[in-house]
Amino acid sequence: MNGMEAVSKILGKENLSQFFADLSKPNKENAVPRGRVANVFLVILAEGELVIRHEGGEDVTLATLDGEKYPMILHEKLVSAWRREMLEQLRHDYDTHKEDLNKVRGKNDEWHCSLRPTAAAGKKEERIGGLCRECPNCMVFGYAVGEEEKYNLKSRIEGDVYLSTLPEQRSVVVRTFNAVDEPTHTTFIQSEGARTGALFRLSLIRVGTPFVGKVAMKDLSPAEFALALYSLIHTTRIGGIKSDFGKVRVIIPAIALCDHEVSSGYEMFQKVKGIDNVGEIVRKINEHVKAYEKECMVLTSNDFSPIITEVVGKNKHDIVKEAWSNGLNFKRCIEEFIKSK
Ligand SMILES: [Zn+2]
Repeated sequence: MNGMEAVSKILGKENLSQFFADLSKPNKENAVPRGRVANVFLVILAEGELVIRHEGGEDVTLATLDGEKYPMILHEKLVSAWRREMLEQLRHDYDTHKEDLNKVRGKNDEWHCSLRPTAAAGKKEERIGGLCRECPNCMVFGYAVGEEEKYNLKSRIEGDVYLSTLPEQRSVVVRTFNAVDEPTHTTFIQSEGARTGALFRLSLIRVGTPFVGKVAMKDLSPAEFALALYSLIHTTRIGGIKSDFGKVRVIIPAIALCDHEVSSGYEMFQKVKGIDNVGEIVRKINEHVKAYEKECMVLTSNDFSPIITEVVGKNKHDIVKEAWSNGLNFKRCIEEFIKSK
């Protein structure tokens, strides 16, 4: 099954090609955005307690909205988990179809791609290393390059914020942990010259807290779109201290195909503020997105995740291989475009 057939099956609609990029060949016009946007509406449900702090002093990242504080997940936090999930999928497929994919790559060396943040040192800023700049993950989510290439590639997936539908009082719990120091088996830890107690506190997102938000996937090929959705719904952990916390479930109640981006995490939040029942949230989001029917092709469901799992799961290598080929064609489009300018 090819990418377009998979997308039609997932969305239950035919003739969707106007909303996706045709990257079956390196056509130069694909180097620039051409108004092919899939607006994907999400509910992220905390199925375990979450640590969603960002840099800075606060334990939980909070947004003040209408005079109350609501926890939020920043898009970059979702993306780092989503990219890693996609890389796992790509590596799994590469391990079982190495020869086939090396043919698509036109290379015989061992493909490797990973997200390796390197700490800021001297005058150099922190940056992400380890990206291969050829795989579907790099071509969809983008990369920054060193001096050897002339361009940075921007992500074709954009998002804003994912806001908790429940205010801090209903969605945050403070827990005290007791870390036992391994060498001494006491709860006292020698740190920076002073002995300190090993009790520590974390503010965690309560189990069952729903977050709502939206991503805009722009100018993706059908296979890239199918692979991105499959990786997104199988992103099962986000935030800090992932071995202990962070279990989530991603629900996709609506997708609006359009020539422009519509709605936002904030707009969705306003429709579902204060609601803790996921079924009710999904119904409200369906209703909200249907209001865009005049300008977009709107598709709604209780959750698109099961059909994505089924369709992409059954045709995984076909879709991954097509996404590889599409990504490499996209790279050629850009190189051609830069050369001809
Ligand atoms: Zn890569």
